[in-house]
Amino acid sequence: MNFEDKLIMMPGPVPVAPRILRAMSKPMINHRGDEFAEIYDDCCNILKDVFNTQNDISVISGSGSAGMEAAIGCTTNNNDNVITIENGKFGERFKLIADRYGNALPVESEWGEPIDLDKVENLLAEGANSVAMVHNETSAGVLNPAKEVGKLAKKYDALFIMDGITSIGGDEVKVDDWGVDIAIAGSQKCIGAPPGMSMVSISDRAYEAMENVDNKPYYLDLEAYKESLDKDKTQTPYTPAVPLFYGLQESLHIVNEEGIDNRINRHRTYSKAVRNAMDAIGLEMYPTLDENTQYSNTVSAMSAPEGVSGEDIKKDMLKRGIVIVGGQERLKDKIFRIGNMGNLTHRDILITIQELETILHKRGIISEVGAGINAANDILDSL
Ligand SMILES: *Cc1c(COP(=O)(O)O)cnc(C)c1O
Repeated sequence: MNFEDKLIMMPGPVPVAPRILRAMSKPMINHRGDEFAEIYDDCCNILKDVFNTQNDISVISGSGSAGMEAAIGCTTNNNDNVITIENGKFGERFKLIADRYGNALPVESEWGEPIDLDKVENLLAEGANSVAMVHNETSAGVLNPAKEVGKLAKKYDALFIMDGITSIGGDEVKVDDWGVDIAIAGSQKCIGAPPGMSMVSISDRAYEAMENVDNKPYYLDLEAYKESLDKDKTQTPYTPAVPLFYGLQESLHIVNEEGIDNRINRHRTYSKAVRNAMDAIGLEMYPTLDENTQYSNTVSAMSAPEGVSGEDIKKDMLKRGIVIVGGQERLKDKIFRIGNMGNLTHRDILITIQELETILHKRGIISEVGAGINAANDILDSL
């Protein structure tokens, strides 16, 4: 069957609102002309509020990983050391990128477990050039301590590169206060746009570091992006994905209309509703927390209950028209994840929980349905 309209409750891509889809169907324009400059300027102004920064923001036509590669590639010389913090799949990606451009110094925890800040500090004290961390580790449903890592990076005068791809636009991110030199957001996550763009903020310190790097990527050269940003008519160095810019602009207007604080509160409330429901159903959250580590406010990762795999749950849900995801790689089968990113409503959260209860009941995991819905409603009522 090919329904056009499944409910995607994934940690990206997310459902795209009809007004965003309509915005993307406009005719093409000259990307070196006034109309494009206005769109780019408008996007950057709103993005600065969303990132909480005065830094430049460049928009790259490429998914979040393009932003991650631009950040590391432009600031890392062959013999530079980059501390890569890993407690999930995307932290691992930073390590793989860092090893292409310089040397990764990995600080690894089991996926979904707290990061080791002491180890990060020791490596900084030994003179690492930069530290790269995923703020919201989507693969394991954990929120890592960005503020603390920012403080450490500052203390040792290292650059702080932060993947905010599933926090920016849905959770609190304070790029300037936290001292994030390069922060990366993704279009298809909390911002609610289609996939294909990454938005990157760059500090003056990061630009200075780039001056000494001689093996920068060509297409993802953030200095070239800066040159184009600074032209009379704001541009990108190469032809941007114009329809995606239309979509991004409309998404950012929605963010503005909701208000970023309200949007963060809504995301937090939705994830709390999911967690409360899981608790009532008797399912366990997967991550291990400590005083610096929290559950993600944009994606919930649950351990699959005895006798059912994460993949089974995903497949059962798909039959009922709801797309959730299992675990990636080593977490495949062990967990399943429900995203609550972007322009969702109470309805989307409630129907997902109701259907989850139904499939667990059919599989004999729970004896009756309803506890989860009630628990979610208790939280949603506060909005
Ligand atoms: C989705 C995601 C990315 C980027 O993945 P792309 O497929 O390149 O968009 C990076 N980091 C995190 C934490 C993500 O959730």
